[in-house]
Amino acid sequence: MYSALKIAQQADLPDGLLLITKSKLGESNSYYAQGGMVAVLKENKKDSVESHIKDTIKAGAGLSELDTIKFISENSDKVVHDLLTFGVDFDRDEDGNFTLTKEAAHSVNRILHSGGDATGREIEIALCKAVKENKNINLYENKVVVDLLSENNNCSGVIVYGDDGYEVINSSAVILATGGLGQLYKYTTNPIGATGDGFALAYRAGATLQDMEFIQFHPTALAVDDEKNHNRFLISEAVRGEGAKLCDKNGIEFMSKYHEKCELAPRDIVARANFCEMEKNNEPCVYLNATIIGKEKLLKRFPTIAKKCLEYGIDITKDYIPVAPAAHYFMGGVKTNIKGETSVNGLYAIGEVSSTGLHGANRLASNSLLECVVCAYEVAEFLKNKNLECKNPVDFKEIVSHYDSQEFFTKIDITVLKQRLRDIMWNNVGIFRNEKLLTDALDEISKIKSEFNREYGCATIEEYELRNMLITSELIVKSALNRKESRGAHYRTDYLETDNHGEHSLINKNIGEINLVK
Ligand SMILES: Cc1cc2nc3c(=O)[nH]c(=O)nc-3n(C[C@H](O)[C@H](O)[C@H](O)COP(=O)(O)OP(=O)(O)OC[C@H]3O[C@@H](n4cnc5c(N)ncnc54)[C@H](O)[C@@H]3O)c2cc1C
Repeated sequence: MYSALKIAQQADLPDGLLLITKSKLGESNSYYAQGGMVAVLKENKKDSVESHIKDTIKAGAGLSELDTIKFISENSDKVVHDLLTFGVDFDRDEDGNFTLTKEAAHSVNRILHSGGDATGREIEIALCKAVKENKNINLYENKVVVDLLSENNNCSGVIVYGDDGYEVINSSAVILATGGLGQLYKYTTNPIGATGDGFALAYRAGATLQDMEFIQFHPTALAVDDEKNHNRFLISEAVRGEGAKLCDKNGIEFMSKYHEKCELAPRDIVARANFCEMEKNNEPCVYLNATIIGKEKLLKRFPTIAKKCLEYGIDITKDYIPVAPAAHYFMGGVKTNIKGETSVNGLYAIGEVSSTGLHGANRLASNSLLECVVCAYEVAEFLKNKNLECKNPVDFKEIVSHYDSQEFFTKIDITVLKQRLRDIMWNNVGIFRNEKLLTDALDEISKIKSEFNREYGCATIEEYELRNMLITSELIVKSALNRKESRGAHYRTDYLETDNHGEHSLINKNIGEINLVK
C-alpha cells in the first residue's frame, strides 16, 4: 500500500495503477505485527547506523549484506517521517517524542511502536484509509493473482482469478508484495493468507530465488490453536524485552542453561531451547511468566496481548502464559536489489516475499517492517522516471482460455492435502532438520503433488494456494538439503558446524540446480 501511494504521488501513470489483494484490503501479515518497527532516528543520540548494522550482521549469522543494511538503516529516518505524511503515527511521550523500545539482540532502544502492541494494525488502518481516498489507485479485493505473464525473461502483467472468472492485466511494472509463507507449517503465527504465493509465482515466471531454507521460528506463540485461521497468536518478544521469563509449569526458569543472554538470546536459540524443554518434559508448551512486569505496565504496554489471552481464560497479570515455537518469518525470497528489481525485467518484489540480503540467515526483530517501507519507497523512486506505458498488450482471450478450459475430473479434499503438507513441513523441515527428514519430506511432497495433479488452471482460490504451497515447500526442502551446515535459523542435526564460506543459495527454474554463491 505504501509503494502504491508513493507511485501514485510521483509517477506518470498513462495506464493507471492497480492494487490487487486476495483478501480484504489490509488483511495481511503486516496487520498482525505487534512489537514495532526499527528506525535509526537522527534525534536518538544513543543510536547510530553503525550500531544498527552491527546488530543486524550479528543476527544474520554471516549472510547479511553490508551495503543493503547500510542503505536501509541510513534511509530509515527519512522514510519514517514520510510515512507520517500518510496518516501513520507511533506512540509518543508527553512531550511528543517517539517512545522507543528494545527487543532481543538490539544494543539500544530503537523500535517505534503504535497502539502499544498493535503497530501493524495502526499502520494498516492509516494506509488503508489513504489508499481508499486516493483517486489514482484502483483496487481489486478478494482476487488472487494466479500467474505472472512472462516470456523471454520479461514480465508484462498478471493473470487474476476471482468470482467473475479470469482476467488478464497488462502492465509495464508488476510489484510483488505478497508477504510470507507461515501457512506451510502446522504451527504458525501467520494468518490464513500467508501461503507463499509470491515465491511460486516468481519461480514459475523464471525469477531467481535466494536462501529458501531460512525460516524463522518464533519461540513464543500462544499454545492455543485458532481453528478458523490455522494459526497461533503471537506473544511478542517485547514481553521478554520488558522482563518476562520462560519457565516450566512449576515456574522453574531454564534459559540460563542455553545462552548467557537468557530470554533475550537470538530467536533461533530461544526457539530451540523451548522445543528441547517441551520434548524433555513431554509437554505441548513451556510458559512465559509476565507477572514479573507488574500489572499497570503490562496492561499499558501490551493491551492487545492481555485482551487476547483473556479470551482464552489466561490473565497475564496473574497466570503463566502457555507458549510454544511457531513458523513466523521468512528470510529467503525473490532475489532483489534495493530498488526491488528481480532477475526478470518488469518484475519487482518488496517486503517479505523479497530477499534483499538484509536479514541473512536470521532476522533481527522489527527489521522486517523497516525493510518493507524503505524498499516500498525505493521502488517508487526507481519507477518515477520510467516510461510506464504498456507497450505491447497481449491478447488475453487466448491466455484465459488456457486456464479456463481445464476440466476437473478428480475431486480433491483440499483441506486434507493442505494439512498433510503442513504436518510434513512442521515435522521434517522445522526447527531441527537432517538428510533423512528432508528426503522423506521431498517424497511426501511429490506424493501430494501427484494426488493434487494440477498445473495451470485450478478450480478454486484454495486450490491455487495449495499449488503455490507445494511449489514453495519443494524449493525450501531442496535448499535445506543442499545447505550442509547449521547457520542462523537453519539447524541441521547431521551438520552442526557453520562453515567458513557464508554463501547464498540461489535457485532458478531455468537453471535447475541450486547454486551456492558468495
Ligand atoms: C503475528 C506477527 C507479528 C509480527 N510482528 C512484527 C513486528 O513487530 N515487527 C516487524 O518488523 N515485523 C513483524 N512481523 C513480520 C512483518 O509483519 C511482515 O514481515 C511484514 O508485515 C510483511 O509485509 P508484506 O507487505 O511483505 O506482506 P503482507 O503484509 O503479508 O501483505 C501481503 C499481501 O499480499 C496479498 N497476497 C498474497 N498472495 C496474493 C496473491 N496470489 N494474489 C493477490 N494478493 C495476494 C495478501 O492477501 C496480503 O494482503 C510480524 C509478523 C506476524 C505474522
